[in-house]
Amino acid sequence: MLFKTPSLAIVVPCYNEKDAFPYCLDGLTTVLSTLISKGKIRDNSYVLFVDDGSKDNTWEQIKSASRKSTFVQGLKLSRNRGHQIALMAGLSNANTDVTVSIDADLQDDISCIEKMIDKYSEGFEIVYGVRDNRDSDSAFKRTTANKFYSLMNRLGVNQVPNHADFRLLGRTALTALNKFKEQNVYLRGLIPLLGYKSTNVYYSRDERVAGESKYPLKKMVALALEGITSLTITPLRMIAMVGIVTCLISSIAAIYAVIEKLQGDTVAGWTSVMIAIFFLGGVQMLSLGIIGEYIGKIYMESKNRPKFFIEEKIGSKNEIQ
Ligand code: UDP
Ligand code: MG
Repeated sequence: MLFKTPSLAIVVPCYNEKDAFPYCLDGLTTVLSTLISKGKIRDNSYVLFVDDGSKDNTWEQIKSASRKSTFVQGLKLSRNRGHQIALMAGLSNANTDVTVSIDADLQDDISCIEKMIDKYSEGFEIVYGVRDNRDSDSAFKRTTANKFYSLMNRLGVNQVPNHADFRLLGRTALTALNKFKEQNVYLRGLIPLLGYKSTNVYYSRDERVAGESKYPLKKMVALALEGITSLTITPLRMIAMVGIVTCLISSIAAIYAVIEKLQGDTVAGWTSVMIAIFFLGGVQMLSLGIIGEYIGKIYMESKNRPKFFIEEKIGSKNEIQ
């Protein structure tokens, strides 16, 4: 098959990125023009900035950049919907042969975009950007991330370790991804489910160019929970296992108590009763919590609400290729 030079959209979710935006714009437009001049992508390629309901002047910056350069397009969501949904909004709006998603803070190495395009031209439909070190992250973020990956693996969710949302998707993979209608989006777990030929490119992750992390601990925990409960029901099975084990232990304890009683060896027993109550109470609360989390998910999914609303769309290359 004759390889056709692809058009590329670089999708960048932005939430309060007024400080990082100028660097990001500069870096990504340079990458685009270099790739176009090398003939690796078509000249109708563009950067699509998705403003995820920023409260600062990010959208104004995107608009003014779009007026100045035909390489820049923008999408403004009606309110903050979070990184994953902002990404989905951008990906489902891109009309190019390939997309590369990347964060606005340039922590991911933009020179890898060329390597990703090269891999695509070799026939890979999905190319994951994988960090070969996390030195720039805090020790806390590193440890929690590692624990999270191994937990997810044990729970049966396949994901590429040390890969965040820096990746290339070809049109075939994109079309497949757009068919996933779920509300709870965790792209890192969804993409491997698509199948297709995939490979990795490696890079070292830098510090943010400017601004602060938009992922405070609360959002990290929410993303982790989303990842687990939207992709696996293993925790529900684990509850059943814990239930079985608890029942076994309780029956052994009950038999022991009866024997002690029959031998007339009765003790006051207050401690053991209290421990049993607390233990069982704890297990039940935990189980209810996990079940509740899944029921909540079913409830939200069953509403089938639209994931996002686009308030404004700018850019000159909106025609379908
Ligand atoms: N982001 C977003 N919506 C949010 C939070 C973050 O679109 O609600 C964007 C943010 O602007 C950035 C990317 O998601 O481009 C990753 O966020 P950040 O760099 O703050 O995360 P970290 O690298 O600290 O995990
Ligand atoms: Mg970042």
